[in-house]
Formats: sequence, C-alpha cells, structure tokens
Amino acid sequence: MSLDHVPAPNVYDAEPIPAAARAEIDRLLLSGDLFRYTAPADAPVALLEREFADLMGTKYALAVSSCSAALFLSLEALGLPKGAKVLIPAFTFAAVPSSIVHAGMQPVLCEVGENYRIDIDDFLVKLPGVDAVMISHMRGHTSDMDAIMKACDAVGVPVIEDAAHSLGTIWNGRKIGTIGKVGCFSFQSYKLVNAGEGGILITDDADVVARAVIMSGAYEHNWKKHKGPNGQNDPELAEAFARWQNKLPLYNLRMQNLSAAVIRPQLPEVARRVRDGRSNHDYVAELLNGSAWLNVPDALDPEDRAPDSIQFNLVGFETDAQARAFADAAAARGVKVQVFGLSEDNARAFWNWQFIPGRLPDLPRTRAMLMRACDVRLPARLQKQDLDFIASALIDAAEEIKGARAA
Ligand SMILES: *Cc1c(COP(=O)(O)O)cnc(C)c1O
Repeated sequence: MSLDHVPAPNVYDAEPIPAAARAEIDRLLLSGDLFRYTAPADAPVALLEREFADLMGTKYALAVSSCSAALFLSLEALGLPKGAKVLIPAFTFAAVPSSIVHAGMQPVLCEVGENYRIDIDDFLVKLPGVDAVMISHMRGHTSDMDAIMKACDAVGVPVIEDAAHSLGTIWNGRKIGTIGKVGCFSFQSYKLVNAGEGGILITDDADVVARAVIMSGAYEHNWKKHKGPNGQNDPELAEAFARWQNKLPLYNLRMQNLSAAVIRPQLPEVARRVRDGRSNHDYVAELLNGSAWLNVPDALDPEDRAPDSIQFNLVGFETDAQARAFADAAAARGVKVQVFGLSEDNARAFWNWQFIPGRLPDLPRTRAMLMRACDVRLPARLQKQDLDFIASALIDAAEEIKGARAA
C-alpha cells in the first residue's frame, strides 16, 4: 500500500459549527441579550440545560464556564469541609487535581494500570479515610464503575464523574456521567462538542444542583429561572434554593448565551460523532494491534466507548531513548505522537502537579505506563485514507526503531 501521495491528515482542525448556530448568534448580537439571566425565561443557556438533561436522562443540568468550573462547583456543592480528601486516578489532566486544590481540598492519587484504567486494588487500599471520589474517565477510558460504586456506596463516599472527554460513552447500559452523584462535561474545543470553552454538570440531587446554581453566580433570585424536569416548577428544588439563599459564596462561573447558541445545534450531532469516532478508533486499533511493537489495550467488557483519540502502548521498547526515537520517526512521517511521560512538562504526568500541597507520592505502575503510553488524536471526521495514513506511519515508525518483526 503506497500512501506517499496522500498528505498527512490534519488532526487538529475542528468540524464546522452547524449553520443553525449562525442565525441564533445573529439574533443574540442584534438584541445584545448575552447574559443568561436577562430574559424572563427560555434563555439559550436555560434551553441548553434542559436539552442536555433530557439527552442524558437526568433531572438537572447546570451550564458553566468550563468542566474545571463544574468539577470545582461539584466539590463545593457536596458541602465537604476544607481539607477534605478527594481520591482521583493518577492518570488524568492537571485540571482535575487543580479543581480540588481550588476547593481547598487535598487530592489523593491512586494507581492506574497499563490499560489506562484505575487499579481497583490500589483504589480499595486508598479509599478508607477519603471524603469524596472524583473518577476521571481520562481520554474516555472507563474504569470498573461497578466495583468503584459498590465500594463507595458501602462507605457512603460520594462519587463525582469527570466525564469531560467521555460524552456518549456507555457503561453497562448506563450513560457515563449519570452513574455517580454528579457528572461533569467539557465543551472545550478538543472535546466531542466544541464551544471553544464551556462545561456542564448533571445530577438528580436537588440540594446539590441548588447549591451549585447559587455558587455559579445566580445571585438574588436568579435561581428562580432554574426549573425541574421538562421545564416544570419543582417544589423540591424550590425548597433547596430557599434553604441556601444568602448562605453561599458566589463564584460567577456562569455560561453566557453565545456559548449555548454554539453548543445547542451540536447536541443532535453527538450520536453520529460517537458512532464515527468509535469505528475510526476500532479500525486503527486493529491495524496497530497487528504490529508486534504496538498494543491498544482492550476496553472492559461493559464499556461502549466514544473515543476521539487513540492511546496505545509501546511494546518491547526497553529505553526512553527508543520511545523518543519512535515519536520522532512518527513525526517525520507527519503524525504527531505524544508519549505522556516523555514530553516535557506534560499536564497529564502526575509528577508535574507540583501545586498539590505536601509531598508528591510516587505511583510506580502509573509512571511506568506513562513512559510508554502514546496519544494520537483521531477526530470523528477523519476518512479511511486518513486512518490508513496514520496507522501506517505509526507501524512504520515502530519498525524503523525495532525492526520488521518481533524477536
Ligand atoms: C478537558 C478535560 C478537563 C478540563 O475541561 P475544561 O473544560 O477545559 O476545564 C478535565 N478532565 C479531563 C479528563 C479533560 O479531558
């Protein structure tokens, strides 16, 4: 197969925003109505919240400025004391421990295995003494949520799901983000739905959402514009708002109407993006797994993935220099590979989270994984020739370093 004439695919460009967004943005620009709480009802942000809650099958949604803001507000909304310990996987994005530090709490890291999922044995060792758990479905990889929920429910520890990069993933028939007490999603440009920036949290808990709504910046009686399921008045929610009136700080992490106008017409595209992203991923995974030097770990059985990138491990690369040479050889073929633990100051390498109070723990299993785990973007819009190009470049780069066949 000769791909010499095909240019390297651009994996950074986004899909165009659906045309319907333009008319709505024009309308908003003409009226100047950009603040979510100006209109008496049905502001674009409020409509987005209702549509997203319906899409996910939850009672409540709160749209905010980022997923990081959603994670921070979730922790604050649980009413945990300052200094509370929050257990997270050691393989995630720096925004996750950052949200915990921002809330005045202490991240506790647990090991992640070669398959990018939480090491349940280490999770169970670290769980006692923890006040909350934040499960980051990093790069859309789902850890064993049955084991995690069973252990957390048994000791009454609340679970927040960081589903920033996991919209559309299904675990045992349940939508990711609806399994824990709160689920948080991102609309930053590299996620499935692109608004540049933005985030949303979902929950069925009226008290949690009321607290989060107020702290997100629903000052005075703006919370009256937040309704229950189907846009109906919700007595439980109204009671919760009354209970927390004037009792909570206002952090002003609101979403504005222009962001909602960009997001809403993308929601009907989610199912297609998930389907295409999954088939693209699985196609490339099969090609890579045909090489003795590359391994794409299997998803756990109960998981249906929604990937927009691919992660794989280098097999038999004894030295960091060999792993670096692989990344260089792939780059020379037009495909950018990030080896999580080898790229300088990587925000997904836990040893770079030096802002965490206290001594950074060592997590040898996670560290070993990060030193050989590779990351390549694979957006849903790529075509078969792009996928072939990427897979060939990766396989050829591995063979350039390690030889044509395994010893
Ligand atoms: C992108 C991302 C975040 C942060 O989302 P923002 O909206 O940029 O704050 C958090 N966690 C994971 C796993 C992410 O991929």
